[in-house]
Amino acid sequence: MPQVDIGDLFTRFPPPELDMTDTQIEDHFNYITHNGVITVENTRRGTHRTFRIRTQKSDASFAPGERILGLLTGSDNTNDYTQIGFVKPPSQHFPAGRVVLWRKYQTEHYEALVRVLQYPDHFKNLGLVYHYEGRCRVCNRVLTTPESIKSGIGPVCAEAA
Ligand SMILES: [Zn+2]
Repeated sequence: MPQVDIGDLFTRFPPPELDMTDTQIEDHFNYITHNGVITVENTRRGTHRTFRIRTQKSDASFAPGERILGLLTGSDNTNDYTQIGFVKPPSQHFPAGRVVLWRKYQTEHYEALVRVLQYPDHFKNLGLVYHYEGRCRVCNRVLTTPESIKSGIGPVCAEAA
Protein backbone atom coordinates (compact mmCIF):
# COMPACT_ATOMS: atom_id res chain seq x y z
CA MET A 1 0.00 0.00 0.00
CA PRO A 2 1.45 3.39 -0.92
CA GLN A 3 2.17 5.64 2.00
CA VAL A 4 -0.40 8.42 1.95
CA ASP A 5 1.30 11.77 2.17
CA ILE A 6 -0.93 13.97 4.19
CA GLY A 7 1.88 16.39 4.95
CA ASP A 8 0.82 19.47 6.83
CA LEU A 9 -2.16 20.22 4.62
CA PHE A 10 -4.78 19.53 7.24
CA THR A 11 -3.18 18.08 10.34
CA ARG A 12 -1.92 21.40 11.66
CA PHE A 13 -5.39 22.82 11.72
CA PRO A 14 -7.11 22.71 15.10
CA PRO A 15 -9.86 20.11 15.43
CA PRO A 16 -13.38 21.39 14.86
CA GLU A 17 -16.09 21.86 17.42
CA LEU A 18 -18.31 18.82 17.11
CA ASP A 19 -21.26 20.30 15.30
CA MET A 20 -22.91 17.45 13.46
CA THR A 21 -24.98 19.81 11.36
CA ASP A 22 -21.81 21.03 9.64
CA THR A 23 -21.84 18.62 6.74
CA GLN A 24 -22.57 20.75 3.69
CA ILE A 25 -19.54 21.10 1.47
CA GLU A 26 -21.21 23.45 -1.00
CA ASP A 27 -24.76 24.73 -1.40
CA HIS A 28 -26.27 21.27 -1.49
CA PHE A 29 -23.46 18.77 -1.42
CA ASN A 30 -23.53 16.77 1.80
CA TYR A 31 -21.32 13.70 2.17
CA ILE A 32 -24.11 11.86 3.99
CA THR A 33 -26.54 12.18 1.08
CA HIS A 34 -24.33 12.76 -1.96
CA ASN A 35 -21.82 10.68 -3.83
CA GLY A 36 -19.14 12.44 -5.80
CA VAL A 37 -15.59 13.61 -6.03
CA ILE A 38 -14.51 16.29 -3.61
CA THR A 39 -11.21 18.11 -3.89
CA VAL A 40 -10.15 20.20 -0.94
CA GLU A 41 -7.60 22.85 -1.70
CA ASN A 42 -5.30 24.77 0.57
CA THR A 43 -4.75 27.84 -1.58
CA ARG A 44 -2.21 29.28 0.83
CA ARG A 45 0.08 26.27 0.57
CA GLY A 46 -0.90 25.32 -2.97
CA THR A 47 -1.76 21.77 -1.91
CA HIS A 48 -4.90 19.67 -2.21
CA ARG A 49 -6.45 16.28 -1.46
CA THR A 50 -9.20 14.50 -3.38
CA PHE A 51 -11.89 12.29 -1.86
CA ARG A 52 -14.40 10.11 -3.66
CA ILE A 53 -17.65 8.68 -2.34
CA ARG A 54 -19.35 6.03 -4.42
CA THR A 55 -21.86 3.25 -3.96
CA GLN A 56 -20.98 -0.39 -4.56
CA LYS A 57 -23.20 -2.12 -7.11
CA SER A 58 -25.97 -4.24 -5.62
CA ASP A 59 -24.31 -7.38 -7.08
CA ALA A 60 -20.75 -6.48 -6.00
CA SER A 61 -18.85 -9.23 -4.22
CA PHE A 62 -17.61 -6.77 -1.62
CA ALA A 63 -20.03 -4.68 0.44
CA PRO A 64 -22.90 -4.53 -2.06
CA GLY A 65 -24.92 -1.33 -1.79
CA GLU A 66 -22.52 0.27 0.70
CA ARG A 67 -21.13 3.74 0.14
CA ILE A 68 -17.35 3.74 0.22
CA LEU A 69 -14.98 6.61 0.90
CA GLY A 70 -11.80 6.70 -1.14
CA LEU A 71 -8.78 8.94 -1.17
CA LEU A 72 -6.90 9.76 -4.36
CA THR A 73 -3.40 8.35 -3.84
CA GLY A 74 -2.02 8.21 -7.38
CA SER A 75 -1.85 10.20 -10.58
CA ASP A 76 -4.91 8.66 -12.31
CA ASN A 77 -7.92 10.49 -10.93
CA THR A 78 -10.39 7.91 -12.17
CA ASN A 79 -8.66 4.79 -10.80
CA ASP A 80 -6.03 5.56 -8.18
CA TYR A 81 -8.24 5.71 -5.13
CA THR A 82 -7.40 3.97 -1.89
CA GLN A 83 -10.65 2.96 -0.24
CA ILE A 84 -10.52 3.74 3.46
CA GLY A 85 -13.98 3.22 4.91
CA PHE A 86 -17.75 3.33 4.72
CA VAL A 87 -20.06 6.32 4.72
CA LYS A 88 -23.02 5.25 6.84
CA PRO A 89 -26.51 6.75 6.67
CA PRO A 90 -28.21 8.32 9.68
CA SER A 91 -29.19 5.75 12.29
CA GLN A 92 -30.70 5.74 15.75
CA HIS A 93 -27.30 6.03 17.42
CA PHE A 94 -25.74 8.31 14.82
CA PRO A 95 -28.60 10.54 13.65
CA ALA A 96 -26.25 12.65 11.51
CA GLY A 97 -24.66 9.66 9.78
CA ARG A 98 -20.94 8.96 10.00
CA VAL A 99 -17.77 7.66 8.41
CA VAL A 100 -16.52 4.27 9.61
CA LEU A 101 -12.82 3.95 8.78
CA TRP A 102 -11.60 0.44 8.13
CA ARG A 103 -9.36 -0.91 10.86
CA LYS A 104 -6.00 -0.24 9.24
CA TYR A 105 -6.99 3.36 8.52
CA GLN A 106 -8.11 4.09 12.06
CA THR A 107 -5.22 6.45 12.67
CA GLU A 108 -5.01 10.11 13.57
CA HIS A 109 -3.90 10.98 10.03
CA TYR A 110 -6.96 9.47 8.39
CA GLU A 111 -9.28 10.71 11.09
CA ALA A 112 -7.95 14.23 10.46
CA LEU A 113 -8.66 13.84 6.76
CA VAL A 114 -12.18 12.61 7.40
CA ARG A 115 -12.84 15.64 9.58
CA VAL A 116 -12.09 17.82 6.57
CA LEU A 117 -15.00 16.08 4.84
CA GLN A 118 -17.27 16.16 7.88
CA TYR A 119 -16.79 19.75 9.04
CA PRO A 120 -16.49 21.87 5.91
CA ASP A 121 -17.70 25.09 7.52
CA HIS A 122 -14.97 24.84 10.11
CA PHE A 123 -12.25 24.26 7.53
CA LYS A 124 -13.62 26.83 5.07
CA ASN A 125 -13.26 29.38 7.84
CA LEU A 126 -9.62 28.33 8.10
CA GLY A 127 -9.09 28.95 4.40
CA LEU A 128 -9.65 25.59 2.70
CA VAL A 129 -11.60 25.65 -0.58
CA TYR A 130 -13.93 22.80 -1.56
CA HIS A 131 -14.60 21.72 -5.15
CA TYR A 132 -16.99 18.91 -5.96
CA GLU A 133 -18.77 16.94 -8.62
CA GLY A 134 -22.01 15.46 -7.31
CA ARG A 135 -23.05 11.95 -8.25
CA CYS A 136 -26.17 9.89 -7.58
CA ARG A 137 -25.83 7.96 -4.33
CA VAL A 138 -27.59 4.94 -5.84
CA CYS A 139 -25.94 4.56 -9.26
CA ASN A 140 -22.98 7.00 -9.21
CA ARG A 141 -24.11 8.92 -12.32
CA VAL A 142 -23.32 12.65 -12.44
CA LEU A 143 -26.14 14.79 -11.06
CA THR A 144 -27.28 17.50 -13.42
CA THR A 145 -30.82 18.66 -12.62
CA PRO A 146 -31.35 21.17 -9.79
CA GLU A 147 -33.67 18.73 -8.05
CA SER A 148 -31.20 15.85 -8.07
CA ILE A 149 -28.32 18.14 -7.12
CA LYS A 150 -30.34 19.05 -4.03
CA SER A 151 -31.36 15.53 -3.08
CA GLY A 152 -28.25 13.59 -4.06
CA ILE A 153 -30.29 11.11 -6.08
CA GLY A 154 -30.85 11.19 -9.84
CA PRO A 155 -34.29 11.24 -11.50
CA VAL A 156 -34.21 7.60 -12.64
CA CYS A 157 -33.26 6.28 -9.20
CA ALA A 158 -35.70 8.64 -7.45
CA GLU A 159 -38.46 7.22 -9.64
CA ALA A 160 -37.48 3.65 -8.75
CA ALA A 161 -37.26 4.34 -5.00
ZN1 LIG B 1 -29.05 7.13 -9.88
